[in-house]
Amino acid sequence: MIVIMKPTATEREVEKVIERMMDDGFDIHRSTGAERTVLGAVGVAPDFDRDQYRLLPGVEEVVRVSTPYKRVSRSFHPDDLLIRVDDLVFGGDEVLVLAGPGSVESEEQIHRTAEAVAKAGARVLRGGAFRPRSSPYSFQGLGETGLRLLREAADAHGLKVCTEVMDPSQIEMVTRYADIVQVGARNMQNLVLLTELGAIDKPVLLKRGLAATIQEWLLSAEYIADAGNPRILLCERGIRTFETATRHTMDISAIPVTKVLSPLPVIADPSHGIGMRDMVPAMARAAVAAGADGLLLEVHHDADHALSDAAQTLYPEQFQRLMDELRIIVPAVGREI
Ligand code: PEP
Ligand code: MN
Repeated sequence: MIVIMKPTATEREVEKVIERMMDDGFDIHRSTGAERTVLGAVGVAPDFDRDQYRLLPGVEEVVRVSTPYKRVSRSFHPDDLLIRVDDLVFGGDEVLVLAGPGSVESEEQIHRTAEAVAKAGARVLRGGAFRPRSSPYSFQGLGETGLRLLREAADAHGLKVCTEVMDPSQIEMVTRYADIVQVGARNMQNLVLLTELGAIDKPVLLKRGLAATIQEWLLSAEYIADAGNPRILLCERGIRTFETATRHTMDISAIPVTKVLSPLPVIADPSHGIGMRDMVPAMARAAVAAGADGLLLEVHHDADHALSDAAQTLYPEQFQRLMDELRIIVPAVGREI
């Protein structure tokens, strides 16, 4: 249930409604917009009379929420949620680009790649130190050494750091180096991991699972938000369909759909979405035109020899060209880059 207060409601009236919700056994999600306050009731309250809320002073409307997720739903938070990382604001006017190699491989590799992506306009260096590989025989990442190299390369080029955490035991270490913590597609429903990420004070980039519906993805985001961390970036990275011509099927439609359902920023990852470097730019352009708040792109200074996901990894020149194209497309859809 959500209670929408009148624009003229006083703080005292808002507090009265909150008290009533607490008496009924709800947790309260309060959203104070420029115009009015919206109070979301979270939790299970078997015996309560919704109509009673309509009669309370200052209440304009009481609406039943039909989605199973609440805290990450647009009805609880009608305005877009802005997720800040120092001077970067996700979900605002600017479309932000996270770029880097699938894996941190060496000091030289990460520095050269960081330099190239920063020069082209990326704002976040994204690379894996702990790698979720489909095969146990693939490169598994450099661990803490990788995190340190990633941080140093990002700092040297004025970038923020985004990197993946695969297990609750890694959270403490990863958050010492990262500005944004990624949950990979394979871990989207690792509910222990999601719950523990609810306790950190850094944004979580939550990838959509390979076979997850949008509702399941939002329910995973709800776990993080319900555990205390509302700073979530949703990342569409392609889904498994019957199609075999591409690595995954980049679900561009998920971008506008998710933005209607949730106020959280949506980042598109066309690298994993389509899986072939020559086609990644087309999907990136489409994602931005469809309303993505940011892009996650795999780039490597020597892409042909990347230790992970080489086939989908952009050459620095391709990345530069794409960024130049985005500087034309992004303003045409009312955003900045
Ligand atoms: C990655 O981001 O490099 C990655 C492994 O992605 P996903 O979890 O989407 O497969
Ligand atoms: Mn990858």
